Amino acid sequence: MLQIHQITKQYKTGDFSQQALDDVSLNLRDSEFVAVLGPSGSGKTTLLNIIGGLDRYDSGDIIINGTSTRLYKDRDWDSYRNHTIGFVFQSYNLIPHQSIISNVELALTISGVSRSERRERAQKALEEVGLGDHINKLPNQLSGGQMQRVAIARALVNNPSIVLADEPTGALDSQTSVQIMNLLQEVAKDRLVVMVTHNPELAHEYATRIVELHDGKIVSDSNPLELTQENEQPAEHRNLGHASMSVATSLALSFNNLKTKKARTFLTSFAGSIGIIGIALILAVSNGVNIYIDKVQQDTMTSYPISIQEQSFDLNKIMGSAQESAQSSKDQEGKTGSKAIYPDDSAITSVSNLTSSISSNNLSAFKRYLDNPDSEINQYVGKVGVQYSYDTKFSVFGHDPKGTLVSASGVTIGGGQQGGVASQMASMDSNTADFSQVQSMQMATLTGKAQAKSSPKIFTEIMPGKDEAKAPIGKVITDNYEVMHGSWPKDKNQIVLVLDEHNKIPLATLYDLGLKPASDYNDMMSQLNNGQKVKADTAKLDYDQAMKQTLDLVPASDQYVKGADGHYQYVGDDAGQVSQLLDKAVHLKIVGIVKPIPKASATPLPAGVGYSRELTNYLIDYAGKSQIVADQQTDRDHNVLTGLNYTAADDTAKAEQAKAFVASLDETHKAAMGSAFMSGQNGESGQSQPQPGVQAQQMPGAAGPAGQAAGMTAQMGQQAAAASLDQYMANANQEQLVTIYEQYVRPQVGSYKDNMTSFGLISRDAPSSIRIYADSFQAKQSITDSINHYNDKAKKDDKITYTDYVGLIMSSVTTIINVISGVLIAFVSVSLIVSSIMIGIITYISVLERTKEIGILRAMGASKHNVSQVFNAETGIIGLLSGLLGVGISLLLLLPGNAIIHKLMGTADVNAVLPVNGAVILVILSVVLTLIGGLIPSRKAAKQDPATALRTE
Ligand code: ADP
Ligand code: MG
Repeated sequence: MLQIHQITKQYKTGDFSQQALDDVSLNLRDSEFVAVLGPSGSGKTTLLNIIGGLDRYDSGDIIINGTSTRLYKDRDWDSYRNHTIGFVFQSYNLIPHQSIISNVELALTISGVSRSERRERAQKALEEVGLGDHINKLPNQLSGGQMQRVAIARALVNNPSIVLADEPTGALDSQTSVQIMNLLQEVAKDRLVVMVTHNPELAHEYATRIVELHDGKIVSDSNPLELTQENEQPAEHRNLGHASMSVATSLALSFNNLKTKKARTFLTSFAGSIGIIGIALILAVSNGVNIYIDKVQQDTMTSYPISIQEQSFDLNKIMGSAQESAQSSKDQEGKTGSKAIYPDDSAITSVSNLTSSISSNNLSAFKRYLDNPDSEINQYVGKVGVQYSYDTKFSVFGHDPKGTLVSASGVTIGGGQQGGVASQMASMDSNTADFSQVQSMQMATLTGKAQAKSSPKIFTEIMPGKDEAKAPIGKVITDNYEVMHGSWPKDKNQIVLVLDEHNKIPLATLYDLGLKPASDYNDMMSQLNNGQKVKADTAKLDYDQAMKQTLDLVPASDQYVKGADGHYQYVGDDAGQVSQLLDKAVHLKIVGIVKPIPKASATPLPAGVGYSRELTNYLIDYAGKSQIVADQQTDRDHNVLTGLNYTAADDTAKAEQAKAFVASLDETHKAAMGSAFMSGQNGESGQSQPQPGVQAQQMPGAAGPAGQAAGMTAQMGQQAAAASLDQYMANANQEQLVTIYEQYVRPQVGSYKDNMTSFGLISRDAPSSIRIYADSFQAKQSITDSINHYNDKAKKDDKITYTDYVGLIMSSVTTIINVISGVLIAFVSVSLIVSSIMIGIITYISVLERTKEIGILRAMGASKHNVSQVFNAETGIIGLLSGLLGVGISLLLLLPGNAIIHKLMGTADVNAVLPVNGAVILVILSVVLTLIGGLIPSRKAAKQDPATALRTE
């Protein structure tokens, strides 16, 4: 029994309030057919909605089988509608995009009935209303009467105890109306049917009871139910639990929904995917550009490592002061008008800037810093790592095809500078990108430090890998060079010939290595010196022919031979002596011919000879064990080359040493010194450094006493000159002896350190240069920062100066790259925002469009949560589709896109590629954004008042 007890309902719209129901009381039997009559606006629909739990009463109570609904929560009402009530509406309220059977299944779907049972029960319900043959049709393929029968089947499928029908025949012709009334009469046999109608005839013909409403009040009741004592038990409250609907069900519901409107779903997804396509394309292009930039960065950083030399000058400082002086010269313009003479000091200033910027680096201390794994710098060092170079000292000799002994440092031994200059020019000419090499040449020029006895310039060490034991040939080398013949060196005796990319090698280098006859070279040089036109030998060489050549390497320490007087003498420039050294030399074998690959990004090996790190290691060890080094270490006070004392404490010691020095000279040297000394004395030019060569060049007839003295001494015999020096020495006082010491002896004394360097003694802790490789500009920047931090903490003498060539060249490039990345990120963000707004709007439209459907769902017993869940499931599916569609379309667009990029850029190096994780993230992003975009509309949908929703057309 259903008791309606003193129900009131008021609608307020603004200031106007409408009493829709006014103290309505009505008791309904469990099984009867009640017709509610009344004029339009009398509150019939309101009463029905309140009985059905679609609308809430303001006061009173509805008591269902003794259970008061006063304390019902939303979910109790939902469950009540789902299990107890079946609704039939005037306008049928079928969901247009669902098939007949799905429409009928809806109430069961909401209550979580299994799929097969749903089918079965819906089928049965449809058969009962005579529509068993039309189950797969869509509502708009049926007639009005048929649609209303579907609606009745839907109302009955859950076997409710109450069926509420609001003007079910209002839109039907009289014949069809009769059919529907018959059906409802049938239904009312075992349950309560409450039907609102405008048609009193039909009501009187079919209904068992007629209730009339007027202005929200019951004005008549044909068969009222009076409550007996037993019926009037006090109403108690019971919770009903709630209609259950799983996420899977709402997904399936939404999926079916979407399936029934494929084109619409596709278009919605496509609209949503446009944003995703935009992002995907930008992502792919920026990814491609990033890959390209990374590659270029890595290549650049391998070509231009941060290079720190033992001797360094700060190019930045010099350039800075150059700008400064340009500035100050502007300031000086003001002086143009004034009447005075100003000295122009710019030349002096720039030289001073240059010389003051030269400094020496304590690379041992810096190496300790680099070797410490905890040092800040090590986290930024790139794949190639840190490379240490050592100033190994050796000479290489070979025999040319005619059997003449040649030196790799300049073809003919003892041939002076002739060959050296040419080969130096040749090696400058070769396409070396190594700044450090250029820098070390500049250093040599600036500091005047002799590089005379350093290793042949055409010999370059092949850079090993980060772990030199595992990778004796570094990746930078193997990546950029190809072996044309033979192989890379495998031990210290093996070398390779390095060609340039056109298979060329400087002609001078070929002479230096004895691959072409030295006599031809000398002929060519003399022709050059005589101003004749030279026809160079351009005949090519076979790989095999070149590889037959053997070379002999003599370490620096072996090039000094101990004489009878116990002093060592340099014999590296004496062909006869060298021949004797060759037996115990390191015999080098050319085992391979290599050249840079066509698009090499770094070419650290100039054309010439490449040798292994193993040879360097051998030479370092060899020098350490050599006799000359041992002898010098035993007597640290005297120069093993001259026997002179490194230090002269006072004038007496200086005088002693001057005497000893002169005494140790042979006649030739004594004569040269004697004549030089005499002319120097007579010329009163004590300050000038008398150099025999320079003096000898003076013309005999030159004016002044110096010239006369020179003329005189030139005529003197050697013997006489020597004798006169001896005589002078014998009579000289201490002051004169000290002068002789200062002028002649001190320059010969040298230093312990210089000697050790000349002998090739190298400490592994003291590299001559350090190259630090980074993989990217940022890493390089961090490395520079780390060095600055090191300098901040280091002692004054340990501070490192170097020139940041890459920084000088690339700082603008970095800025451009940052700007481009920023612009791309901005684009991506805009696309994201646009795409989320678009998805939100689409979902919102969908909500508006489906307001009626929401009302129907609620009438079927769907909770607010169910409704929002259905919408979320739908937006989620659309988001997923948008994402997949976006990624798919982007991938397709990239095919022609890349072709265009390649065409425009003229290179296939930039390749727009959508990264896999990027694609996955985009799909997830699309789902999340669509969900967020749909959240507000779906909440709005859930909050919709079902009664109002159903009134919406
Ligand atoms: P009937 O179904 O008998 O035609 P209704 O129950 O639909 O009448 O309406 C009763 C009264 O309540 C009418 O005056 C109507 O304008 C008013 N009414 C119904 N629903 C609302 C609403 N959501 N807001 C304001 N007034 C309403
Ligand atoms: Mg109505």
